[in-house]
Amino acid sequence: MVDFYDAADGPAAFLSIPGGRLEGEDAARVFAAAAALGGELSVTARGRLLLRSVGDVEALRAAWREHGSRHRVLATPRSAAALSHAREIARLLDDAGLPRTLTVGIDDGTGDVATQRLHALLTTDVSPAEALARIVGAGPAHRRSPGPVTPPIGWLPLEDGRVDLAGVLPLGIFPPRLAELLAALARPVTLTPWRSLIIHDLPEGDADAAVRILAPWGVVFDAGSPWLKVTSCVGRPGCAHALSDVRADAARLASAGPAERVHLIGCARGCGRPSGHFLEYEAHAEGEYETAYRGM
Ligand code: SF4
Repeated sequence: MVDFYDAADGPAAFLSIPGGRLEGEDAARVFAAAAALGGELSVTARGRLLLRSVGDVEALRAAWREHGSRHRVLATPRSAAALSHAREIARLLDDAGLPRTLTVGIDDGTGDVATQRLHALLTTDVSPAEALARIVGAGPAHRRSPGPVTPPIGWLPLEDGRVDLAGVLPLGIFPPRLAELLAALARPVTLTPWRSLIIHDLPEGDADAAVRILAPWGVVFDAGSPWLKVTSCVGRPGCAHALSDVRADAARLASAGPAERVHLIGCARGCGRPSGHFLEYEAHAEGEYETAYRGM
């Protein structure tokens, strides 16, 4: 299930993957299609894949059709229970034929997904069927908790000696050859709502090689990086509403080393806001911004 819309730089496509996780062969197919059929690939503040400047809409629709849900179902990264719930709840929501698209979070008790803007927050101690009944019966409602906002990052050892490798993508943007590399690796990959990705179950040597390739491409493995504090919407030239090139301005802010979390937007629509408390820069003209605190 792929959502398309017309952007200033051509057709764009969103893919919502339950729990954000693609298994190896699925990851290979999804990223190979992205590399072959579109332009810039990114991960959004809802953990969705966004492919811009799609060259062949029907070919991408066919390639991605089996891999997404109509609804955005987030899950605590690296939690098998949350992922299993997310997949089942996404399936139930899709089958239920609800009149609108929902954003639902499955938190395993960590409190990370609870910080997200959601229609409904569910926990793994509630069965997927009961969870669906609660969403449909009581109506969706969730107040965000202030909780942690730092995503899993860096070298994350597993009990069997393998490694999960987690990197933040500055502004959510995949470096030009990353989709191709992920397609070739064919390893499980999780996309997170913190604009990061996790490559799972890598032998140590492969993880070490991946870091050597990805770090020079700009993927962030350091929890102290300013890129964990700076986000933005698309801005100019990709969005026709934008009053400034917010990504370029965000890069300048990141290189200056911001003292607090900031989010830049190109107009009052306020796309891509992160969770938690942050200082928002809203463009009113090229390079000119007004600021206000947002979030909890
Ligand atoms: S906030 Fe405005 S400029 Fe930024 S992506 Fe949304 S509509 Fe475009």
